[in-house]
Amino acid sequence: MLASVLLALFLPCLGMSGIFIVYICLLWYVSSLNQPDPPLPVKPVTVLGLSASELEKLPKVTGKDLVMGTDCAVCLDEIESEQLVRLVPGCNHGFHLQCADAWLSRHSACPVCRAKLDSDFFNALENPC
Ligand SMILES: [Zn+2]
Ligand SMILES: [Zn+2]
Repeated sequence: MLASVLLALFLPCLGMSGIFIVYICLLWYVSSLNQPDPPLPVKPVTVLGLSASELEKLPKVTGKDLVMGTDCAVCLDEIESEQLVRLVPGCNHGFHLQCADAWLSRHSACPVCRAKLDSDFFNALENPC
């Protein structure tokens, strides 16, 4: 009699602890699923400006060929007619070669009109149809 009473008490406890263990296992499984992925290998920080090879592809003229004014918006100096000028394709704004390169290596937009120098332009240069 006593044994069966103990058994009657013991069995539900066993069942409860079994369910509890399954529950803990499920929690552990779900939390292990939700772990953030291991960080991907860090890519070098993408520079927003143009690379040296891209800069080389930009049209280069001299000051006397400028059509959009002869002031360099980067250094605010006048561009002499014999000085080398880097032209921004599209808007044709020109800047001293070194000013344009310094600016464009950090920004991929024209400093005057913010025209974007996107990769389409360079792709078009590389694959002329
Ligand atoms: Zn300049
Ligand atoms: Zn421009």
